[in-house]
Amino acid sequence: MAHTTARLDLTGQRFGKLTVVARAENVGPRTAWLCRCDCGGERVVKTVHLRAGKVKSCGCVRALHSDSALGLHYVDGTCVEMLRANTRRSNNKSGVVGVVWQPESRRWQATIMFKGTRHNLGKYERFDDAVQARREAEALYYESFLADYDAKQAMTEPAGAGS
Ligand SMILES: [Zn+2]
Repeated sequence: MAHTTARLDLTGQRFGKLTVVARAENVGPRTAWLCRCDCGGERVVKTVHLRAGKVKSCGCVRALHSDSALGLHYVDGTCVEMLRANTRRSNNKSGVVGVVWQPESRRWQATIMFKGTRHNLGKYERFDDAVQARREAEALYYESFLADYDAKQAMTEPAGAGS
């Protein structure tokens, strides 16, 4: 084949807040990559967009600059809406957010991302225990954060607006 060059592999490379996790299915004729964002979000991005620096986050960074348009709010760099979505997401068949199987230790590792830091919640023999640890951490980190946020919003919004 005439134009076969060494296959590009961006796995592990960083572009802004995105780290390339794996090759994704092509987007049309374009090579695309599954990227994980520092905020915990994921996004499939075309090679050209990564290399040109057009896409540097899962969407949270651009949102930062036009957050009113998207209705996103940030506190200390943490997206309020993203946290809400995270707390709502429940068990699915492929697994629970923040709970991963560690083959070396044969344990379920629970973690939580909060304000750009990954907190280790321990390793568990039982999947349910790891999920439980994750849920408790969500309550601790996310819900208190959201409660704070809502309290502040309530103070800054005109009284009697009622929804
Ligand atoms: Zn992001």
